[in-house]
Amino acid sequence: MKDRFEREIDYLRISVTDRCNLRCFYCMPEEGIDKKKHEDILRDEEILAAVQAATKLGLKKIRITGGEPLVRKGIFDLVRAIADTEGVEEVVMTTNGILLQGNVNRLKEAGIERVNLSMDTLNPETYQRITKTGSFPNYHAILQELIEHDLLPVKINCVLLKGINDREISDFLDLADRYDLHVRFIELMPIGHLPYDYKKHFISKQDVLKRHPELEFDKKYRVAEYYTVKNQRGNIGFINAMSHHFCNQCNRLRLTADGKLKPCLHTNEEIDIRHQTADELYRTFQKAIRHKPQNHKLHKEENAILRSMNKIGG
Ligand code: SAM
Ligand code: SF4
Repeated sequence: MKDRFEREIDYLRISVTDRCNLRCFYCMPEEGIDKKKHEDILRDEEILAAVQAATKLGLKKIRITGGEPLVRKGIFDLVRAIADTEGVEEVVMTTNGILLQGNVNRLKEAGIERVNLSMDTLNPETYQRITKTGSFPNYHAILQELIEHDLLPVKINCVLLKGINDREISDFLDLADRYDLHVRFIELMPIGHLPYDYKKHFISKQDVLKRHPELEFDKKYRVAEYYTVKNQRGNIGFINAMSHHFCNQCNRLRLTADGKLKPCLHTNEEIDIRHQTADELYRTFQKAIRHKPQNHKLHKEENAILRSMNKIGG
């Protein structure tokens, strides 16, 4: 279905949990979140009913996210049921990878076609600094497992943080070459009123390009701009919600783990989808598509987003 601005909305991101096994300082408070009660989180049947309503309106690509999606009990069965829903053409997942090692075959069998692996650093100490918890994953083993199981192209999401991981940009360019993969550098977004100095750590694409003139522009595709490095494999994307609006290309809705449909990541509008019949759910999705704003106003400080990213689903 098209929205009021002629954008074809065909992509639904579903947060299947707001819990996580990490505490990335830009995403989640270190003491964790006020744990939602089990009954506040959408059950498998509710998620499936939402997917059915969404597919009737032409949403056909589903991304499973969180929190950390792999911590949800029964996640493989849920993924399989989503992938088997009529009208679903593609199911992909965003994960921090901690529970991926040794499980890629199960994920593939369940119907996941590609994985975005969040990886902000290749350095164990910096990993501690960013995630506050957890031991450094064996990223090389995880990447090899993804490649062996043909979950391609592998995309790495790396949130750039000035003074923390921006020294590693060249290492990520080498990683893209070594495994022939996509690295997507994501601009830090001021989401969730977290106690860190956003301005101190924000670094823009322009700054990165000045420091890495080897990056050559290749193309723009939806929310990312892609670059390559001469004689190197892989490609490098930039996702710049802050310094560039890509709203005119936005084709997605988001469903939070507690059952709120969000027409836009960057506005606080949410529509409750719980306790609805199939017809009501259909109309709720229709309403969310109609309410999709033309663009976000995140650059104005008073418009900071109240929910943190783990609660929205990145
Ligand atoms: N836990 C999973 C993971 O980390 O891949 C999935 C959920 S996480 C919220 C999804 C993505 O959002 C991650 O790549 C994360 O780095 C990104 N993210 C979280 N908070 C962000 C922020 N304030 N600005 C930019 N990206 C953010
Ligand atoms: Fe967890 Fe992902 Fe947020 Fe990090 S970015 S705290 S891994 S949800």
